[in-house]
Amino acid sequence: MKVSADQAACIGAGLCVLRLPEMFDQHDDTGVVVLRQTEPGPAPEDEKAVLEVVELCPARALRVDR
Ligand code: SF4
Repeated sequence: MKVSADQAACIGAGLCVLRLPEMFDQHDDTGVVVLRQTEPGPAPEDEKAVLEVVELCPARALRVDR
């Protein structure tokens, strides 16, 4: 599973950071999402939570590819 984020679309709502702080962070100044890890992708036990976050993101800024 590969997670990517569209920083231009992100509105800084922070839901992804609240749910999975080990994977997502927010830029200090702008609040825009920053991926904390891109390789090798989320741990298998986190994949369900990642899919939930993708659905929760109000800006549809997160994407998962398999
Ligand atoms: S949940 Fe979506 S809009 Fe909110 S910070 Fe994360 S990527 Fe940005």
